[in-house]
Formats: sequence, structure tokens, C-alpha cells
Amino acid sequence: VRLPAAGLRPVPLSPTLAVNEAIARKRRAGTRVLPLGFGEAGVPIHPALVRELAAAADRGSYGPVAGSPALRAAAAGYWGRRGLPTDPGLVVAGPGSKPLLFALLMALGGDVAVPAPSWVSYAAQAALAGARPIGVPTPAGEGGVPAPAALAEAVRQARAQGREVRAVVLTLPDNPTGTLASAEAVRGVCEVARELDLVVVADEIYRDLVHDPDRTVPSPARYAPERTVVTTALSKSLAAGGWRLGVARLPEGPFGGALRDALLGIASEIWSSPPAPVQHAAAFAFAEPPELVAHVDRSRRLHAAVAGAVADRFAAAGALVRRPEAAFYVYPDLEPMRGRLFREHGVRTGADLTGLLLERYGVGVLPGSAFGDDPAALRMRVAPSLLYGEDDAQRLAALAHPD
Ligand code: PLP
Repeated sequence: VRLPAAGLRPVPLSPTLAVNEAIARKRRAGTRVLPLGFGEAGVPIHPALVRELAAAADRGSYGPVAGSPALRAAAAGYWGRRGLPTDPGLVVAGPGSKPLLFALLMALGGDVAVPAPSWVSYAAQAALAGARPIGVPTPAGEGGVPAPAALAEAVRQARAQGREVRAVVLTLPDNPTGTLASAEAVRGVCEVARELDLVVVADEIYRDLVHDPDRTVPSPARYAPERTVVTTALSKSLAAGGWRLGVARLPEGPFGGALRDALLGIASEIWSSPPAPVQHAAAFAFAEPPELVAHVDRSRRLHAAVAGAVADRFAAAGALVRRPEAAFYVYPDLEPMRGRLFREHGVRTGADLTGLLLERYGVGVLPGSAFGDDPAALRMRVAPSLLYGEDDAQRLAALAHPD
């Protein structure tokens, strides 16, 4: 082939997918590997949801770009029950929240402030959209929400260099740290966003997996409704990442309408409409029938138990680690063990460490550097099998659907 290979855009595989592929290669070669890299719930998908998908398998036509009216109404109801009354006309569905976030960044058309650390794809997507990410150092345990002064300073500095900064992205609850910000912290960032005219992109994909059921997620859409976009998906709390279905809730008012139109234009040129059978199942899911609510609740409790136990083990071994407050991630910082890791294993970098864990111990995890953080930090996705052993975990997972 005489393609101008040198002219191809060098886009590396997203670290989460790259670790998945490395694990798959080892498995094909017959090695047992514990897959703790990719962010997935360790519970099965609920059979009632599977039935809904199967019942709609014959829906083969394209639908509206924004998603079906039934799905948009169900998603609006989902947010309404969480204190965010939502106009279904301002809901846009897409094939996963990842493509929706990318389309949003393209629509916003400027640079974007991202907490450091934060989810691997924000910075990479900003770069693909022709923008530059501005990392705002955000100490672990802050729930992924930077201090207002740190955000304001980073944005002002970038603007002083002539850059157009349009948005700040927050993950609530946070990935990779598994922590949840306070309402006060979110309000502070919203005030800065208003002062500096930034759009707030609130990725709330882990909202329903907060370990303490009495804690609520302080959505920026409460404090800055005129400028906040909220996204979520079926991927995490319903364990249906492979179905590829996400939804975005656009800001109220004229700006929200204009942003929706820009988003729909981009969506119409990329995915046309989300997959029709999955939209049908998603409308069922977002209506939150009691069996799915109970399923998410059991998943939440299982992950809380495993994440807490794994974090305690790391703390006992001398790592710096916070007890996760949501989702299924543990984010230990192995800084205090750096010397020993080098002496005993020749480990210098995060890549050395994750390579050692995969090659020698058959454990696939991600280095902090994938999230724009120190490489001595590791993000591990934890699953019930870690705490209970594979067989017990399967029995526990079966408990998740007594029907
Ligand atoms: N946002 C965060 C914070 C995530 O961790 C993930 C998945 O890893 C996504 C978005 C993407 O999810 P989806 O499957 O909806 O594209």
C-alpha cells in the first residue's frame, strides 16, 4: 500500500483500552490475568434490561438524531427525581457519553480546563477537537473539583497568553480517585465559571454509585443551570458499557438551545442516531423500575465493600490512599514505597510498575500518568471477585438478580 503513512495523525490508543488489549493478548496466550484496568462494574447486567433490549431487536430504522422522544422523556424524569427538573427538548442521547463529550468539546470550540488528575479521555479528546487542555492541579480527595482560586488562576493565565478558554470539566463523583466533592466546592467552581464565562461540563456517570446512600451528588446544574451540561450513561451503574448509550442534559435558556443545535449538527455527521434497540432498553432503564433500582443498590453496596477493603490493604502496606466514596476505583499512591520498588524490582516509572504488575503478577491496572497525575499512583478498578474469590463473586453477582 502506498499510503502517506508519515502524514497520518499519531493518535495513541486510549490508555484504558490499551490495557484491555494487553490483557486480552496475555489471555489469548493462556495467562490468567486479573483485569483491573478498564472501568467496569463487576456485576452482571440485569435480566429485565436484557429482555427489553431483546424485545426491540427488530427496530432497524434510524431515529431522531437527538434520540427517541420516549428515551428523552425518561432521561428527563431520571434527572427530575434527582432535583434537576429537565426539559426533554434539552436532552440529547448518543452512543455512549464518551462521544457526546467529544461532540460537546467540538461544539464549544475552545480550550478546556481539566482537573489533574481526571479521566483519561478529557485531555485526549480536547486535543482531537483541536483544543488544548489546561490541567488544574487538584489534590486527591478533593472529589475531582479544583479549588476555585486554582481554576481562576489557570484560566486567567491561559487567557493572558491569548488562549480562548471555554469550559471546565468536572467528574462527580470522581474518576480516578473515587471521591466526591462537597456542595461548597462545587458552588465555588460555579461562581468562578460565571465570573469567567465558562461552560461547566459535569460528567455524572458515577452518580448512582455513591457508597453512602445518604450523600447526594452536588450537581453544578443546581448552582449554574444556565451554563452546565450534565452527562450520564448506562455504562457504569447498569454495567452496560458495551451497549453504548449515553445522554446529555443541556443548560436551560437560550445558550442551551444553541448548544443543543450545534451538538445535533455534529452528531448528525458522526453517528446519525443512537442504536434503536438500545434506546428502547435505555428508556426502560431511565424510568427506574423497582428491580433496576434494587440492582443498582446491591451493586453500590458490593463495590463499597470491595473498594473499602482494597484501600485498607494498600494503606496497611504503606501506600497513601483514601477510602473511596463512590464507584469502583481505588487510587493508591505508592510514593512511600518508591525506594523499595526500585531496589527490589528496578521500577522507576509508572509504566515500569504497571508493566511489572501485568507481566509478573498478571494484574492489569493503569498508572496515574494516564490521568495526568504522578506515575507512582495507580488506578485499579475493583470487582467483587477480589474480595470474595471468583466462585463467591459469581454467587454474589447472582444475588443481584433474585428474579
Ligand atoms: N466518563 C467517565 C468519567 C468514565 O469513567 C467513562 C468510562 O470509563 C466515561 C465517561 C465513558 O462512558 P461511556 O461508556 O458512556 O462512553
